[in-house]
Amino acid sequence: MNESFNTEQSTQTNKPLISVVVPAYNEADVIQVFYERMCKLFDSLSDYCCEMIIVNDGSQDLTQSIIEQLRSKDNRIASISLTRNFGKEIAMTAGLDHAKGDAIIIIDVDLQDPPELIVKFIEEWQNGYDIVYARRTARDGETWLKIFTAEMFYKVMDKISERVKIPRNTGDFRLMSRRSVDALLQLREHHRFMKGLYAWVGFPSKAIDYRRDPRAAGSSKFNYWGLWNFALEGITSFTVIPLKIATYLGLLTSLSAFSFGLFIIIKTLLWGDSVQGFPTLMVTILFLGGVQLFFIGVMGEYLGRIFGETKQRPLYLIQRYSPSHYCPVEQNPTPSAKQA
Ligand code: UDP
Ligand code: MG
Repeated sequence: MNESFNTEQSTQTNKPLISVVVPAYNEADVIQVFYERMCKLFDSLSDYCCEMIIVNDGSQDLTQSIIEQLRSKDNRIASISLTRNFGKEIAMTAGLDHAKGDAIIIIDVDLQDPPELIVKFIEEWQNGYDIVYARRTARDGETWLKIFTAEMFYKVMDKISERVKIPRNTGDFRLMSRRSVDALLQLREHHRFMKGLYAWVGFPSKAIDYRRDPRAAGSSKFNYWGLWNFALEGITSFTVIPLKIATYLGLLTSLSAFSFGLFIIIKTLLWGDSVQGFPTLMVTILFLGGVQLFFIGVMGEYLGRIFGETKQRPLYLIQRYSPSHYCPVEQNPTPSAKQA
C-alpha cells in the first residue's frame, strides 16, 4: 500500500482538490482496511489532489491512535478529534467545516459504501452535477426489519414533507460541490437531519445505483431505538404536519362532541334523563384523554427541539485538529512540511 506517501507530489498545484470526509466512532477494527482501499482509489485519481478528513467522534477504542499512525505516514490525512461522541450527523458537519476541497465526499468508514464508486461521482460532478449521491439497490447484511422500517419511514416522509423531497434508499455517501457544501454549512441547526438538509439546499443532483455491502468489520452503531429517534428527528425537522393533524383531529372531535351533545339534550328533553351511558362516557373520556396526551407529546417533541436550538451552543467541540498538508493551501504555504 501507499505506506509512506511521497510528500514531493504535494507540490502539484492547479489540480482540483477532492476532500473525503469520514466519520468514525469506535472503528479501530476497520480503519486500516478502509485506508488501504482509499489509497488505491487516490492513486487512480491522478488528475486530482486528494485529502481524507477522518473525524473521530469521541471513540473509546484505539481509533484515534490508528488515525494518528496513518497520518504520520500519509500527509493527505487530516484528523479531527471531537471532545466526546456527538453523533454521526455532527461528526460529518465537523468534517465538512474543515474540508477545503472543490468537491467533498462523505463516506462511512465501515466499507459499506464502496470507495470505488467515487470515480463515478467525480465523473458526474465534472458533467455539471452539484450533488451526486449513491442509491442502494441492495442492502446486504441488514435485517428485514431494518429494511422494512427504513422503507416505511421514507414512505411517510415522502407523504408529509412538503416541498423538500428526500430521495429513497440513500444515505450520506455522496459527493457535493464546493458551492453546495457552502450552502449546507449555512444551516447550523442542532437537530441535523442531514438527508433532509442535502435535499433542502437543492442544486442539480444525480443518483448512482449501487449494492450496499455488509460491514467489513465491527458492528453498527445504530440500534432500533437510535433509528426511531432518527426518524422522529427527520419528521420534526422537516414538517409540522403532526401539529396540523392535532388541529384537525381536535376540530373533528369537537364537532362530533357538539353533535353528540345536541343529541343528548334533545333526547333528555323528549324522554327525560335516566342514568345510563357509563360505557359511552368512559370510552369518550379515555379516547379524548389519549388523544390529548398524544398530541401534548407531539408538541413536546417540537418544543424540546426549539429549546435545543435556543441555547445556541456550538455544534461540536474539537479536542485536537491536525490538518492535511497534501495540497497547498493559503494558510500552509509549505505543503511538504509534515506534521507529527
Ligand atoms: N458514526 C459516528 N458517530 C456515531 C455513530 C456512527 O461517527 O455516533 C459513524 C461510524 O463510525 C460509521 C458511520 O457513522 O463510519 C455509519 O455508522 P454505522 O455503520 O454504525 O451505521 P449503519 O451503517 O449501521 O447505519
Ligand atoms: Mg455501516
